[in-house]
Order: sequence, then structure tokens, then C-alpha cells
Amino acid sequence: MKSTKIVATIGPATETEETIGKLIDAGMNVARFNTKHSTPEWHRERMLRVRKVAREKGVAVGILLDLQGPEIRINTPHQTVFQVEEGDSVAVLPDGTEFDGEEALFIPKVVVDALQIDSHVLIDDGLGEFIVTDKDAHSVTITALSSFPVSHRKTLNTPGTNINMPSLIEADFAQLEGLDPTLIDFVGLSFVRDEHDIAVLRSELEKRNITAQVVAKIENQKAIDNIESIVVATDVVMIARGDLAVEVPFEQLTHWQKVIIQLCRVHARPVIVATQMLKSMVENPRPTRAEVSDVANAVYDGTDAIMLSEETTIGRYPVKAVKTQSQIASYNEQFVEPQQLNVRKRSTAAYITEYAVKILEESRKPENTLRIDHIVVLTESGKTARLLTRYRPHQTVHVLTSTQSTYDKLSVQYGVTPHKIVLPNNEQLESSHDLILLIESLGIAAKGESIMLVHGTHWKIPGLTNTLSVLTVPEKDTHV
Ligand code: PEP
Repeated sequence: MKSTKIVATIGPATETEETIGKLIDAGMNVARFNTKHSTPEWHRERMLRVRKVAREKGVAVGILLDLQGPEIRINTPHQTVFQVEEGDSVAVLPDGTEFDGEEALFIPKVVVDALQIDSHVLIDDGLGEFIVTDKDAHSVTITALSSFPVSHRKTLNTPGTNINMPSLIEADFAQLEGLDPTLIDFVGLSFVRDEHDIAVLRSELEKRNITAQVVAKIENQKAIDNIESIVVATDVVMIARGDLAVEVPFEQLTHWQKVIIQLCRVHARPVIVATQMLKSMVENPRPTRAEVSDVANAVYDGTDAIMLSEETTIGRYPVKAVKTQSQIASYNEQFVEPQQLNVRKRSTAAYITEYAVKILEESRKPENTLRIDHIVVLTESGKTARLLTRYRPHQTVHVLTSTQSTYDKLSVQYGVTPHKIVLPNNEQLESSHDLILLIESLGIAAKGESIMLVHGTHWKIPGLTNTLSVLTVPEKDTHV
């Protein structure tokens, strides 16, 4: 079974229940809905399909609503395409400005105002590269560094220029309005700049009783500058390489991927590596060598999850793309060794989980007599599972929880198989004998096998993990 989780974006190529079922069978753990496209109704209808199919299959599949955020798109006069050659100059004007000519760009006024002489302007994921060569009170002039066809609604990035835009736009509020609070597990926050942006989203979610976790999308220099405080403030991180590779010099991308993954592990935050992992599979049934290496290297970097975008929204081989990621991840995970992490402050739960992984790894050595076949964590918030799997133990971590939303949210966590169980109402832990019978009945362990248990002494009280024990499933049924 693979440990790395797969986030697949749902689109026209994958919207039916049948295909969603195939994506889950192929290894999809989280279904992502990219609100840059389609209406809130379109997304909600397909989210319900994901929930239905996942419940029928009895597996945890998370749902990620990825908000658009303050993305900048250009408008052209009469929505036309015009060609610019190297050295050509183009006027950039605030949206809504009167203009009679054929060639100009319109963007929000706040962006025009922020641009200065020598600022860089990149259009369409950096395919068009420009520099600001003139500025007056109302507009700027940009000059092309290479030839490029400028078309309506393409994205515009301004690397190195801070723009004071709100972190949520009207379209984002429309996606949240009237949403069933239990339908989503994760909300993606695009172009996050600092912890304040995360606090703004959290307060909007709270107002609507939405308990989804925040996924901070790291996609610009400002986020890199504030990376540690963002990681601490958020629940999950996405390395959104599409925009990040345009907003920071592209040669830095791999370095930042490694730094961010490591920080996320230190702070026990799940991390997703996103964008163009298997881009060629939009058209082709096999990945390129570079794509295979990209997926494998994300696994070696220690990511929790890997993502697919166009590959599964509009691609010709969406199920194959998920299978391809599954294959690459499963093979390479066996060579990922548990790692010491530079954790500065440790709670009791942090100590217990750290030592649990050390004991687990010792038990794998042939010279050792201690044998541990399975590890089981009892957690209502999911935190203990996050603390433990950040070390990437070789064994699957079985998590028992009675909380539906924890079960669904653990879908993004490396190495975790969640099990939804019914807990007794009293606060004390059941006898270890009953617990072992439960673990046996869930098919986690067989008679004679040994289990490492990590848990607290009280059910349903998060944050009290304090116990580590090793138990054996009795060979004979001891019930009378
Ligand atoms: C990205 O930029 O890589 C990304 C995942 O964000 P989006 O697809 O929302 O632009």
C-alpha cells in the first residue's frame, strides 16, 4: 500500500461517479476542486459524488475547495490577441479606462499603481516577459524582452512587487456562501502572504461554521519570506509550483521545495507538492523521464502528498495519471528512511511519538528480538498521527477515531490509514483486551501478531496522548 497521498483535481474528464470510483481505486486520496473554473453549484454537485462514492467504498477521501484568491488576469481591447516583438512597448492601464487603440493591457488599478520603473511583469506563466520602462500618474509602459502573443484573460505575475490586494475576492465568498459546512475538509488559500491572511480566512470560515482545515498555497516571494510563521499558522501547506516558479527565479524552485517540506515536518503540518508533475500525460499515456524523477524526488524530499491538475481535469488519461503517481510513490517510499527532525519544543505527545518511531525502527532490524507487526494510534483530533508520521516510519500507521471529520482530514497525511470507530461514551480507555479485539475485528492485526499502541488515557479529550504500549493479539479467543 502506498504511503504518499494523491490529490487529484476533478474536472470535465473525471466528474462522473464511475470515473471518481476509478480515481479512488487508482490511489486518489483527496479530490480537489479548483474554483478558478466552474460555478459553486458545479463544484458542490461533484463534491457530493465524491462523498457518496468514498462512503460506499469505505475509504477516507478528503475534499479540497481551492479558492482563487487575488490572481491577476489581463484584459485586452475588444478581447483580442495581439503580437508584440522584442523591444515593443505596450501601455498598461487600470481596468475600465477609456481607450480607442488596438494594443494595451488592462489590469486592476492597485497593480498599475504598485509597478515601478524596472519592475518585472510576466504574462501567461512567464511565457511573456516584460519590464516597466515608463510610468506616469495613471499608467505604466512595459517593454517586451522577447516576442509574444498577448491574449485576453491570461495571468499576470509581478515578481518582486508587493501588491496590497485583499486575500479573498468576491468569487471566493460566492464559493463559501450557503455551503454545507460538512461538505469540505480543506480550503485552499491562494497567494497567501503572511499569517494574517490565514487569520482572515479562518474568521470567514468560523462565521459560516465551516470546520475545514486551511491549506496555505505558497506561491510568491512574500510567502517565502514569511514561511515559518505561515507553516505554524496554517493546517496544511501546498507548494503551488505553477505560480511559485514564476514569482521567484525558477532556479530556486527545487531549493524552496526542500526547505518548505522540511519545515512542515518539523511543525507536523502535512504538505502537498503541486503542479505539472505529470503534465505530458494530459496528452500521452506515459510520463517523461523528468516527470518520473520529479514525482520520485518529491517522495524522497519527504512530502505528504503529490498533486495532479490538468492531468485529471481535462487530460486524456486521468486514471492512468493517478496510477502512475501511485506506482512511482510506492516503489520509492521503501527507500525513504525515517529522519531526525530539528524539533525545538516537545510536548508529551511529541516525545511519545518520537520514541515510538525509534522503537518501531529498532523492531525492523533482524538482530532484534522485539517484533512489532502493526502500529495503532487512537486520536480524536488527528494530531498524534501527524506528530508520529512526520518521521516517516516504514510501517503503515492505523488511526482509530470516532470523529468523521478527523477521519476525512487524515486523507492527506503520509502513511496513515484511518479507521472510523464507535467509542464508548465514558471518558476512560476501554480495557486493552477489548481494544485488541476491536483492532482484530478491523482486520488490522491477526492472532499472534503484536501491536504498538499510542494513545491517551481518556477518550475524546484531545492533546492528552501519554501512553505507548506493545500488546499481542492472543492466539486463542479468550472470551468466555
Ligand atoms: C499553482 O500555482 O501551482 C497552483 C496549484 O495554484 P492554482 O492552480 O490555483 O493557480
